[in-house]
Amino acid sequence: MIRAINVNKFFYTPDELHALKDVSLHVAAGEVVVVIGPSGSGKSTFLRCLNRLEYADSGEIFVEDQNILDPACDINKVRAEVGMVFQSFNLFPHMSVLENVVMAQMTVRKRSRKDAEAKGMELLRKVGIAEKHGVYPDQLSGGQQQRVAIARSLAMDPKVMLFDEPTSALDPEMVGEVLDVMRNLAREGMTMVVVTHEMGFAREVADRVVFMDVGQILETGTPEHFFTAPGHERTKLFLSQIL
Ligand code: ADP
Ligand code: MG
Repeated sequence: MIRAINVNKFFYTPDELHALKDVSLHVAAGEVVVVIGPSGSGKSTFLRCLNRLEYADSGEIFVEDQNILDPACDINKVRAEVGMVFQSFNLFPHMSVLENVVMAQMTVRKRSRKDAEAKGMELLRKVGIAEKHGVYPDQLSGGQQQRVAIARSLAMDPKVMLFDEPTSALDPEMVGEVLDVMRNLAREGMTMVVVTHEMGFAREVADRVVFMDVGQILETGTPEHFFTAPGHERTKLFLSQIL
């Protein structure tokens, strides 16, 4: 589903920084890959390259058969197929919950309002928040907003879902409800790349765990490998700090 091959990314402000160094990752359809690593290691930059929020400087990135770094590739199409959920929920504050989930279906997927609303309600039910369809985002808790943000992404029928620390901004008691939604998505076979510090989720849901440090993938393996016998000293140090 995703093939990233030798992806490099540089930033030039404030100083030159080689943020991604020959990062390669293949994600099969239906696979759940959890990306872990210290702050500043390039996890967000890598995810953002996968839906072209950042344009990689070199390397190749394919989503299914589509070369997303081809200048001729339609960026809106890429974003519709590669859904992304951020730490900050980024709902549209002036729109109701349902409208948040409906709008891009009409503009990007060209669905009628009736179809978009029907699908929107179905997805709000799926994330357990249908009864709130008429309220505005600021009337919801963080966990509820994040579930709406997931529903909004799913409304595009993405082929892949990227999650960038989706629970890091939440109060502890709301983390579980968002992880439950993600766990259910994984069970239904969604292809997912998840940056998270929730090691319980990684252990239970990940097919594969990837450890990034200083812009590189240092180690890849099953959750068992990571939590029982990590190979790299940097991985051991990182895990000892967060577990
Ligand atoms: P992580 O998500 O693992 O914490 P990031 O991908 O956000 O790491 O950042 C990797 C490195 O790239 C960091 O040193 C960060 O400061 C830098 N960086 C990220 N985005 C930008 C940007 N837009 N401009 C300059 N530097 C950036
Ligand atoms: Mg990040």
